[in-house]
Amino acid sequence: MVVQKNAEYDIEIDGMTHDGLGVGRIDNFTVFVEGAIKGEKVHIKIIKVTKSYAVGKLLEILEASPQRTEPFCPVYKRCGGCSLQHLSYEAQLEFKTNTVKDNITRIGKLENAVVHNTIGMEEPLRYRNKTQLPVAGTPAKPLIGFFAKRSHDVIDIGSASCGIQDELSSEITELIRNFISKHGISIYDEKNQVGILRHIMTRVGFKTGEVMVVLVINARDLPARKALVKELTSAVPQIKSIYLNINTKNTNVILGEKNIKIFGSDTITDYIGKYKFHISPLSFYQVNPIQTEVLYNKALEYAGLTGTETVFDLYCGIGTISLFLSEKAGKVYGVEVVEDAVKDAKRNAEENGVNNVEFIAGEAETVIPEMYANGIRADVVVVDPPRKGCDERLLKTLVDMQPKRIVYVSCNPSTLARDLHYLDQNGYRAVEVQPVDMFPWTHHVECVTLMSKVEK
Ligand code: SAH
Repeated sequence: MVVQKNAEYDIEIDGMTHDGLGVGRIDNFTVFVEGAIKGEKVHIKIIKVTKSYAVGKLLEILEASPQRTEPFCPVYKRCGGCSLQHLSYEAQLEFKTNTVKDNITRIGKLENAVVHNTIGMEEPLRYRNKTQLPVAGTPAKPLIGFFAKRSHDVIDIGSASCGIQDELSSEITELIRNFISKHGISIYDEKNQVGILRHIMTRVGFKTGEVMVVLVINARDLPARKALVKELTSAVPQIKSIYLNINTKNTNVILGEKNIKIFGSDTITDYIGKYKFHISPLSFYQVNPIQTEVLYNKALEYAGLTGTETVFDLYCGIGTISLFLSEKAGKVYGVEVVEDAVKDAKRNAEENGVNNVEFIAGEAETVIPEMYANGIRADVVVVDPPRKGCDERLLKTLVDMQPKRIVYVSCNPSTLARDLHYLDQNGYRAVEVQPVDMFPWTHHVECVTLMSKVEK
């Protein structure tokens, strides 16, 4: 049987992809169905057929999975932010553990690594401390929200307020919406690259309550910026810092390189555990501060420090993991490519009274080979790279250096598995993998992995 576009079928869903789509088969031909869950029987209409797979639209659930639950968000189906709201929270955690196991065995080929169950949150709502919302529409009727799935149409969640974001961020978004209309602020049009306001970013320190607001603009300045400052700060006194970020490029990258501070302090602060951190607009800071502490404590445990070791914290951001490690290490070197983040890291060490850490600005894959050539060796290395994983030059230098442990923190199980495979082929053994749920209701999963040197 040839699978036909627009034809309808009843199929069984026997698997799920890593981004949460249901997978079924029609005469052995693979069909992906958004919103369907493993174990379900569904009625679908084929909306796309390629050589190797088809895509079906879910029309009716004939037999529902016990794991199915009602999504809490009114725009869940259209919005590209969440992807697992139709699964119970318990089932999401199981899904994430399985995703990690699958990557570790299929890509990593690590049959013996122990993958623990994903550590979830007690209350997985309003967990995000950061929003980055695209702005579209017109000054009279701005659209502020999230990109729809697979598109750049902006889904405006309006006064319903996004259930995974901090509430203050929603309040600030509404203030900016009024500001745009009241002052007729022109909105950036991606297609023609005209107009000013592109994105709104907010970041809230969960422990301190301090808020930073960044307006990303396609211009050198924002009209009525004094009014903006007044309208925001008088309504939300927790706002400690407001920036304009200049991004005049035709790009999907949200933030430009240049920041102009228009109100308050350069940074906001937050605590993770007992450490206080300054955060600049361009610096990376984990979005789920509650689970971050769980993650970092796991990384610290896996590092197995006794107080004397030299430790590298690579991709260190503002030095958060470095400070966690410093207490139990002889010396910590942090390496990070974003200069502002390194500045934050230095200040953070100083203000927390930590003096056995040193931060270096640069790419890990350039800095570490140089340090190694200069005779600096680590006993334990922690890496926490972005989604694309570690550059092979870095992994090679680590293998040459022979630290006794490598702790790999990752937000992408497939590049994690690729890099673990490399280390496994070069004298390291994956001991255990701990997934941590930093991003409830989405398919994303964070992991911390312990690799140990195989003693000859
Ligand atoms: N460990 C930190 C940051 C992790 S995010 C934390 O938990 O907060 C990854 C970081 O790697 C970001 O700060 C990013 O700027 C940085 N980065 C990206 N590519 C890099 C590279 N090639 N070398 C060093 N740092 C890099």
